[in-house]
Amino acid sequence: MRVLVVEDDARVAAALAAALCRHGFEVLRAGSVAEALAAPTVDMILLDLGLPDGDGVDLCRRLRRNDTDVAIIAVTARGEERDRIVGLRSGADDYLVKPYSMAELMARVEAVMRRSRPRPKPVVEIGDLHIDLAAHAVTRGAEPVVLTRKEFDLLACLAHEPGVVVPRERLLIEVWGTTWPGAGRTLDVHMATLRAKLGEPTVLETVRGVGYRLARS
Ligand code: CA
Repeated sequence: MRVLVVEDDARVAAALAAALCRHGFEVLRAGSVAEALAAPTVDMILLDLGLPDGDGVDLCRRLRRNDTDVAIIAVTARGEERDRIVGLRSGADDYLVKPYSMAELMARVEAVMRRSRPRPKPVVEIGDLHIDLAAHAVTRGAEPVVLTRKEFDLLACLAHEPGVVVPRERLLIEVWGTTWPGAGRTLDVHMATLRAKLGEPTVLETVRGVGYRLARS
């Protein structure tokens, strides 16, 4: 997933880029309207509406016209209701008012990405493991695997993209709705139980310091 950060404050842009990288995104940066319009295609744009060389709302409209699929989150220091409406009517998918916390930003990013991501296949087959995402049912061979709600949600997150490492922070946001570092231990405990329930040979791979991945086959 590639994100374009449009922000003229270099310090803010660097902090945003670092946070997004930690969550597994590839980050491009633009500090002006001209740079934003010249940027390559991305999956999501984080757009500061207060830019030095032009009107952010107008830029938002133009970016939306250029790429109808891209997810756009508009960011502004102005918090008035009228400005929010203008922001959303300009084609943004969501709207964030400064000052915001990094946790709030990441929750919005994840929510927008989830909405815009292609719908996952309802059934995922990996070897003799059968995951029915719609029915919330998992079997391995002929045996049903009984999972708790959180264990199933974790497995579902990984099953959306087999073979792709899902960062720990994203799993914490999607399953527990938090980026609180203390929740990392809960994640590891749930993952260990899930791995034990799914049995051998294991289909859950740990990528140390990054996250988890479901084997592709
Ligand atoms: Ca600005």
